[in-house]
Amino acid sequence: MSIKENIRHYEEELSGTPCRLIAVSKTKPNELLQEAYDAGQRDFGENKVQELAAKAEVLPKDIKWHMVGHLQRNKVKYIAPFVHMIHSVDSLRLLLAIDKEARKNDRLVHVLLQIHIARESTKFGLNRDEAIELLASESFKQTTHVHIKGLMGMATNTPDQEIVASEFAGLHRLLRDLSAWNGPQVEMSELSMGMSSDYPIAVKNGATMIRIGTDIFGARQYPTGA
Ligand SMILES: *Cc1c(COP(=O)(O)O)cnc(C)c1O
Repeated sequence: MSIKENIRHYEEELSGTPCRLIAVSKTKPNELLQEAYDAGQRDFGENKVQELAAKAEVLPKDIKWHMVGHLQRNKVKYIAPFVHMIHSVDSLRLLLAIDKEARKNDRLVHVLLQIHIARESTKFGLNRDEAIELLASESFKQTTHVHIKGLMGMATNTPDQEIVASEFAGLHRLLRDLSAWNGPQVEMSELSMGMSSDYPIAVKNGATMIRIGTDIFGARQYPTGA
C-alpha cells in the first residue's frame, strides 16, 4: 500500500470519531512526509528536536508539528517558535522551560502531560499524584504562555489486549478526574494514545489523537548497533 492509501485508510477509519491522526514521521525522509502531505495529512509527529526543526524548515508551513518524544529543557528553544503541540511534558521544570521560551516568541504553546501507564518502567511520564502536584503548584499558576490541553500515554508493549485496554481506560478516567482543574490554563480535552499496534483499542477508549508511524510509513530502519 502507498502512503496515500494508508492516509485514506485512516481517514475512513476515524471518520465519525472525535479522533484525528498524527503521522509519526521520525527517521523518514522529507519526500515521504511530502507524500503524506499531498494526500491531505497536516499533523505530523517527531520525537527528536533536531530532526523536527530541520524538517519544519523545508516542508510546507501549514504543517502542524507535534513533539511526541522525550524533551530536554535546553532544547525547547529550537522548537518553541513554531511547534503546534508538545505531547511529552513529564515535569514541572520542563513545563516552566516551555513557558519561558514560548514567552520569548510571544506564543501560547499547547502541551499534554505525559502519564506513565505502562508496566515497563522504561517509559517516561508522571503518575497521578505527580500530575496533580504539577497542576496545583504555584509556579504553574504563574505561567502565562503554556496551555495544558490533556494527557498522553503509551501502553505496555504486549499482545494482551486486556492489559492495553485497561491502561487506556485508566488514562481516560484520569483525564476526567483532572478536568476538575480546568480553568484559564487547563482544558482537559485531548487524549493522545494509541500507536500502530494498539490504536483500535485506544480509539474505543476515547483517544482524540492517535500517533501512527510504522503503519503509514513502513518499518523504521535504524543504523545497526544503535
Ligand atoms: C514512534 C512513536 C510512535 C509511533 O509508533 P509506531 O509503532 O511506529 O506507530 C508513537 N508515539 C511515540 C511517542 C513514538 O515515539
